[in-house]
Amino acid sequence: MSQATAPVGQAQVIDGKAFAAGLRSRIAEGVKSLQANHGVTPGLAVVLVGEDPASQVYVRNKGKQTVEVGKKSVKHELPAETEQEELLELVESLNQDPSIHGILVQLPLPKQIDAEAVINAIDPAKDVDGFHVVNAGLLATGQSAMVPCTPLGSLMMLKHHLGDLSGANAVVVGRSNIVGKPMAQLLLKESCTVTIAHSRTRDLPAVCRGADILVAAVGRPEMVRGDWIKPGATVIDVGINRLEPSEPGGKGRLVGDVAYDEAVAVAGAITPVPGGVGPMTIACLLANTLTAAHRSLGLPDPQL
Ligand code: NDP
Repeated sequence: MSQATAPVGQAQVIDGKAFAAGLRSRIAEGVKSLQANHGVTPGLAVVLVGEDPASQVYVRNKGKQTVEVGKKSVKHELPAETEQEELLELVESLNQDPSIHGILVQLPLPKQIDAEAVINAIDPAKDVDGFHVVNAGLLATGQSAMVPCTPLGSLMMLKHHLGDLSGANAVVVGRSNIVGKPMAQLLLKESCTVTIAHSRTRDLPAVCRGADILVAAVGRPEMVRGDWIKPGATVIDVGINRLEPSEPGGKGRLVGDVAYDEAVAVAGAITPVPGGVGPMTIACLLANTLTAAHRSLGLPDPQL
């Protein structure tokens, strides 16, 4: 049996909320030590264009947690009709600002703005989302990069839970630039045998059943069923989907891309939704900002 599988039964729940809290407290220690030894407070600038309610919540949470770990948080809110040139000028001024170590432009951006152009205008050293083409290239070639937060958090939980991942069969369902592809790169770097599945994959259930490690990053509520999972496999559910409310005016339930109740009876371990990958994503943004501050001072990366 591979190291990445465990006996069948009730899966162990990987508690992302607790893991993220531990990570944040280690980051707070790292911030203190940077302040004490180098007189530098890591700074994160978050840019929000428009009034998308979900984005507003994300930006508020990011700012709050940035301050809680002792960092400087700067928020720039621009109206929905902002032109691309204006946004590029703001990005350039943040690139030049020595008190800012991380820049995050909240996606999605309004239609008149080319998101790729804006992301690629961020100084790669301050690209704490890890979406810049330079960081994608560095990750793909196994070099030191800024790694996208969701895959980074998923990998941290996998390594914490399983230890050495080498030789495990890993299947990543989803091939987006922000989750699926970087997740696959990270697993490859850990010497997993990696399969990337997507909407054109033939017999997806059979492909998933080959996985010791199954990462679902699809955006389709409860698509991965219990009988798609190899008994004892470790399942990372990246999906965040809100179901239709059961009553008018109610708030729909949040579910992942995995049918949790079925999966929990088959998998060896699984991340819940909510409370799995989600909390780790913001914590990894804070980790990346600390890493960026270290690198700007020529220091080795913090060991978190
Ligand atoms: P995208 O929509 O960019 O990508 C979805 C991927 O899933 C695509 O590669 C697509 O394939 C594939 N896919 C779609 N339908 C199927 C299908 N029926 N069978 C197999 N593959 C399919 O999504 P993201 O990568 O941005 O996000 C994925 C999920 O993760 C979403 O639920 C999102 O909300 C969540 N998310 C959660 C985060 C967190 O913090 N926990 C952070 C970021 C995202 P193809 O390329 O062929 O179209």
